[in-house]
Amino acid sequence: MDDSFRDADARHIWHPFTQEEGAPPPIPIRSGQGTRLFGEDGRIYLDLIGSWWVNIHGHAHPHIAAAIARQAQTLEQVIFAGFTHRPAVHLAQELTRILPPGLDQFFFSDNGSTAVEVALKMALQHAVNRGENRRRFVVFEGSYHGDTVGAMSVGRSSGFFTAFEPLLFEVDTLPFPATWNDDPEVETKERLALQALDHYLQRHGKTCAGWLVEPLVQGAGGMRLCRPSFLREAALRVRAQGIPLLFDEVMTGFGRTGSHFACQQTGITPDLICLSKGLTGGFLPLGLTVCTPEIRQAFRGDRFDRAFAHGHSFTANPISCAAAVASLEILHREKSLEKVAAIQAIHRERLAALAGHPRISRPRSIGVIAALDLDSDRADYHSPLGPALKAFFLEEGLLIRPLGNVVYLLPPFCITPDELHRGWDGIEKALRHVV
Ligand SMILES: *Cc1c(COP(=O)(O)O)cnc(C)c1O
Repeated sequence: MDDSFRDADARHIWHPFTQEEGAPPPIPIRSGQGTRLFGEDGRIYLDLIGSWWVNIHGHAHPHIAAAIARQAQTLEQVIFAGFTHRPAVHLAQELTRILPPGLDQFFFSDNGSTAVEVALKMALQHAVNRGENRRRFVVFEGSYHGDTVGAMSVGRSSGFFTAFEPLLFEVDTLPFPATWNDDPEVETKERLALQALDHYLQRHGKTCAGWLVEPLVQGAGGMRLCRPSFLREAALRVRAQGIPLLFDEVMTGFGRTGSHFACQQTGITPDLICLSKGLTGGFLPLGLTVCTPEIRQAFRGDRFDRAFAHGHSFTANPISCAAAVASLEILHREKSLEKVAAIQAIHRERLAALAGHPRISRPRSIGVIAALDLDSDRADYHSPLGPALKAFFLEEGLLIRPLGNVVYLLPPFCITPDELHRGWDGIEKALRHVV
């Protein structure tokens, strides 16, 4: 690769979530195929994190690429207020086939953070329109919901946003019973979490506008899992107070946890669900906030101020919608859930082989997600182990990006058993050489 390209990047481009001082320069990628990314310098990287949790069917999948090309030549964009188009309607119809019954009203935006902002605004205005005094939101400790101001407020306890504290609105935070394989404390933690929830609901049950959760897995908070039975129990109590359930499935949606949506393992249908990331197969930005007809109904009326005054320039972009429809076709056609089950089986086998390793704790997995904590002086996102491990994995040709001392895999569904074992072998090697 010519140096001018690298220099121009350094001179002009500000990369996300990076302390540039001391960071290695970004790696130029020329192309991708399936699980593999091809560097400009000829090196090949195995993508074990779905390129920040977006890619589910592999890079440059020809079916999605063709759908995008066709749509771009037909209708690239049109204002979505007062107009509509087939890709959006088709997508809504296809999604109602896999979403829990009752979630069939679709509000479009551009990404995960905006899908969450829409959910918060919808839940709040839903209460306002119904004349209810519900103004507060409640979340679990460790939640992450994106980087815009509302999403930061509800994700404050993830610890990423200290500089913005003065901008963030008040949010109530409850303990989360994070658990792992053979966790002897799980029952106790869940009981205490439910007690805290009950106590909260007694005080604020009638003034809470929404309970926002990442069902089954807190992603950016460190791949922290809870049991479906706990979430179900908590959700029933929250619902009994008339509080809308807002599920953020931006990361967990589209098969990642072994079912189309994580909520399906709890038997609970939320009132609103946020989707993005895997929605387009990871090809293009698109966000969706899907709600029940009851929620939507509360916005009808004879005055504009009852309507939902929200919309982005690229709301329901037709090319993104066409990519999402194509991604759903692959999800069915390539039997993705069976692939996820096969990945999960390998995760379990490799985690079991690591059990008892003196430097690891909390081995855990669900669907394509497997994670473990490494011993570190700092057991959080700022653990110095994170950058050291990331560099080691890249040297091995593996795209694995630990969250501090938490090492996890979250591969696209098309990964082969051999490739997945290579990832695990890389983690074992890191345990010998880095930790
Ligand atoms: C990534 C993520 C978001 C934010 O999505 P963006 O598209 O990055 O804005 C929101 N919620 C969860 C659970 C996420 O993992």
